Amino acid sequence: MDYESLLDNAYEKIEPVEESGRFEVLKVKGHHEGTKTIITNFGQVVSHVRRNPEHLMKFLNKELASSSEISGDRLILSRKLSSTDINDRIEKYVKRFVLCPKCKKPDTELESSGGKVFLKCLACGERYEVHKI
Ligand SMILES: [Zn+2]
Repeated sequence: MDYESLLDNAYEKIEPVEESGRFEVLKVKGHHEGTKTIITNFGQVVSHVRRNPEHLMKFLNKELASSSEISGDRLILSRKLSSTDINDRIEKYVKRFVLCPKCKKPDTELESSGGKVFLKCLACGERYEVHKI
């Protein structure tokens, strides 16, 4: 074997570098107003995960036993909550409704068919049934 072909061989053995792929969820920003919690970057959080704002709001209401309303980019929750509480629930939402269980990529969309909701992965093509909120 000459030098050139040795080199070729060596290159072939190099594993493809894995994308440093963990999807980072945006942390909420906000403050308390009396007994309410105002999240000021809700719009950004939602567009980052590419989901419907009402869908995420509904999930948070249920998880945090709160009611809330969307006002522009802001989400106004009826309870005084810590940012940790909210961030934890958004992480949970992302695991359940955004990340593909198989390839862990966030390139997914939700689709409804036959009264069921599916998480469809645009990266690997898998389709999983998810619970309705
Ligand atoms: Zn996938």
